[in-house]
Amino acid sequence: MKRKLLTAPSLGCCDLFEMEKQVKFIDRHADFLHIDIKDGNYVRSFSIGPDFMKYMKNVVKTPMDAHLMVKHPQNFLEMCAEAGAAYITPHTDCIESDAFVTINKIKSLGCKAGVALNPAAPLESIIYYLPLLDKVTIMIVDAGYAGQKVITQMYDKIRALVKLREEMKLEFLIEADGSMNGDVYAPLYEAGVDVVVLGPPALWNKNADIEKAWSIMEQEIEAAVK
Ligand code: MG
Repeated sequence: MKRKLLTAPSLGCCDLFEMEKQVKFIDRHADFLHIDIKDGNYVRSFSIGPDFMKYMKNVVKTPMDAHLMVKHPQNFLEMCAEAGAAYITPHTDCIESDAFVTINKIKSLGCKAGVALNPAAPLESIIYYLPLLDKVTIMIVDAGYAGQKVITQMYDKIRALVKLREEMKLEFLIEADGSMNGDVYAPLYEAGVDVVVLGPPALWNKNADIEKAWSIMEQEIEAAVK
C-alpha cells in the first residue's frame, strides 16, 4: 500500500478574522496541529504560546504538537502539557546539557517526545537518545525566518535518518518543517518523510477560503506521492 504523507498545519498561521472556521476545518482534516512557540530569543520573532493551546484544547480532536523554538524549553514543558499538547518538540541545541532529563520529563508529563534539528545540527547529536523519541523534526530551513529557500541537502539528512531508524529498529515519526511548498513534497516523500508542516506558502496563500486552499494543497500532495 502507498505510504501516506501526513499533514501538520501550523495553526498560528490561521487568519485571525476567520480563526474559528479555519481551526475547525483544519481539525477535521489534518493529522497533527503544529503549534509554533517562539520566545524572541532562540528565534527573533514571537508567536502564539501555551495559552493558545489551552484555548484550543477543548475544541480540537487532532493531536497538538508544541514546537518549542525557545532558548529554555524546560521552562515550558509543564505549561505545554497542561495546555493539552500531545507532543512536545524542543530544539536539540537547547537541550544539549540536559537532553535525557528533558525528554524523560516530557514523557513523565504524559506527552510524546520530539526533537527538532536546525539544518546545521548533525544527526550524530541525537543518536544516544533516539530510542526515547516519538518524532524527529528535520528543519529544512533555519528556524524562525520566513521566506527562505529550502536547503536541499536536508533530503540526504532525512535519508540518513530513515536508515538509522531501520538499523536501530525504531518507530519514531520523521517530520519536515520550514518553507514548505508544492515543489518539495516529492523529494521529501521520496527521502522518507512521514509528516510535513504546512505554513502559508503550502496552505493559506493558496486561497482565502480555507476549504479551497486545503483542496489545492491536497492535490499537490497527491501528485507528489503517486
Ligand atoms: Mg514549526
